[in-house]
Amino acid sequence: MTVRDIVILGCSSQQPTRLRNHGAYLVRWNDEGLLFDPGEGTQRQFIFANVAPPVITRIFVSHFHGDHCLGLGSILMRLNLDKVTHPIHCYYPASGKRYFDRLRYGTIYHETINVIEHPVSAPGLVHDDGKFRIEAAELDHGIDNLAWRVTEPDTRKFDRTKLHAFGVKGPLVKEIEDKGMLMIDGKTVHLDDVSKIRHGDSIAVVIDTRFCQNAIDIAKGAQVLICESTYLEEHLELARKHYHLTARQAATIAKQAGVHQLILTHFSARYQNLRPFEEEAKSIFPNTFVADDLLTFQFPKNY
Ligand SMILES: [Zn+2]
Ligand SMILES: [Zn+2]
Repeated sequence: MTVRDIVILGCSSQQPTRLRNHGAYLVRWNDEGLLFDPGEGTQRQFIFANVAPPVITRIFVSHFHGDHCLGLGSILMRLNLDKVTHPIHCYYPASGKRYFDRLRYGTIYHETINVIEHPVSAPGLVHDDGKFRIEAAELDHGIDNLAWRVTEPDTRKFDRTKLHAFGVKGPLVKEIEDKGMLMIDGKTVHLDDVSKIRHGDSIAVVIDTRFCQNAIDIAKGAQVLICESTYLEEHLELARKHYHLTARQAATIAKQAGVHQLILTHFSARYQNLRPFEEEAKSIFPNTFVADDLLTFQFPKNY
């Protein structure tokens, strides 16, 4: 079994609380670890979550408000300390390059890790290395801020029973995969007769925005949407004023995008009890979960 889960390292917005650290989300995906928005204290949250930081292979910074990036420098330094040898890809809005550099080189250390920067200057496809297709979309937050979508390639799965029924065995399996069809005992067997496409998993991360079409578009059909919901609908005016979403709006994005599962996060410190977030969102989008520090969500199965 391959690991495929989402570890919530923090779920507060601008101001952490006794129970909620600044946001940070680790997606463990096969042999990779995708870290989104390492807020302040992320390094320590890894310890509480019982996860070793070297699992990180890619870091995504949506924007350079402190609650989304103050942990970047310490995480990079920690990976350095752990003598990580694999490359660390970093994706962030290109206009924030100077903030990225300050965070990366904020203190004295001898950098030995291989950091590969991907400053994003335009929305759309950011990186496709065959393992993941990474796309970005601009959000409505008053400053440059990116939503992310990560999608793995589609794969073809053979059906053992059908292979047997059609007499496709041994080297013929490879042959039908290469050619798309075969003649067996005078009958044509098509690749689709004995296999089907398994669509790659996908996750969208929409953090810090007003309600906008781009948030819906980037999340279209994703398995999981991690979405901010800083406020409840009763504080809609505050959400609008501060360029944020309510739980109801986040659920509407999930519904209109047709995602499978929604995880709400980035809660304002004004709320102690998060139950109303769940209730508000579920009335629009039933398959909603509420993030909490150190909670792990299994990636939903994709059929
Ligand atoms: Zn924020
Ligand atoms: Zn922000």
